[in-house]
Amino acid sequence: MPTGELFIDLEAVAANWRALDTMSAETVETAAVVKADGYGLGAVPVAQRLAQEGVRAFFVATAAEGVELRRALGPEPRIYVFYGHMPGEADTLKRADLVPLICSILQLTAHLETLPRHPFGLQLDTGMNRLGLKPAEWDAVREIVLAAEPVLITSHLASADTPEDPQSADQLARFREMTEGVEVPLSLAATGGTLLGNEYHFDMVRPGIGLYGGLPFAAAEPVVALDLPVISCFDVAAGETVGYNATWRAGADTRIATIAGGYADGLHRALQPAMEVMAGPVPCPVVGRVSMDLLTVDIGHLDGDPSTLSVLGPHHGIDALARTGGTIGYEILTSLGRRYRRNYRGMVAG
Ligand SMILES: *Cc1c(COP(=O)(O)O)cnc(C)c1O
Repeated sequence: MPTGELFIDLEAVAANWRALDTMSAETVETAAVVKADGYGLGAVPVAQRLAQEGVRAFFVATAAEGVELRRALGPEPRIYVFYGHMPGEADTLKRADLVPLICSILQLTAHLETLPRHPFGLQLDTGMNRLGLKPAEWDAVREIVLAAEPVLITSHLASADTPEDPQSADQLARFREMTEGVEVPLSLAATGGTLLGNEYHFDMVRPGIGLYGGLPFAAAEPVVALDLPVISCFDVAAGETVGYNATWRAGADTRIATIAGGYADGLHRALQPAMEVMAGPVPCPVVGRVSMDLLTVDIGHLDGDPSTLSVLGPHHGIDALARTGGTIGYEILTSLGRRYRRNYRGMVAG
């Protein structure tokens, strides 16, 4: 028996892509970010469904992710690699026809030496201070880079999930300055930047989390649902404790359901003590510590013993669960366990 059943709705992913695509002008390409195995949901099934929808550009973090995607998608789509050109990867980039997004002077030199005619893109640092050429570095190599004909120039916004934060406007201004007079296609916006409006769109937007139903795309269709089977139900008397270190004590006689799923399945201990699971429309508090493979739930207020309890669903999504543990929907998704049975809706045949 798997620890739970994870439903992944690829039709909702496609609908979210279409909704994000309509936010920018016809002339703006809407790509898709499928790094970290499609935010934990399966890069291959997600990308195959989106390719069917018309997506022609995909972004991954590592060259290995790019190789997997190339195999699944065939030769047509362009696949960009955020880690750029890492040492020893020239052959991989070449054979899988991946476009490294060069992110340092060192990478630039290595790339132009080892793969002089292979397509590449460039990351500029407009203030996030994570990856990309700084303004002074860009000034120094600009002519050489442009002569080598990059296929895309990107930067990344640090605070686009917070529309009132002035950092996005600062980064936009710097990106404009750094790319003035440059004829190469430009891309600045991920999901948050796509929502900020047209001036952030340039030639391409590259949403990730919004495709998967997460904030800041509040209007997204939910993509995942997760049900865990109930293994055992029993009564506890007032004053008894539940779980490791007896952190929860029953205030009154009640009934406990022990369900299949724990921190080894991505349900982190930090989600406690505010975590709830759902019996249909009825919330049930998770009580006691989260174990490796088990959760204990107070079901004293239910009419009967349920056979499954829902951890994620249309009315209690990834961001609601994330809030109880002080994290973000991105981390809930990318932590989803490998022991779940995965059930896809809208999978592309073949
Ligand atoms: C992850 C990532 C994205 C996608 O971001 P979302 O917030 O998930 O839309 C886009 N660009 C870069 C550089 C990234 O690292």
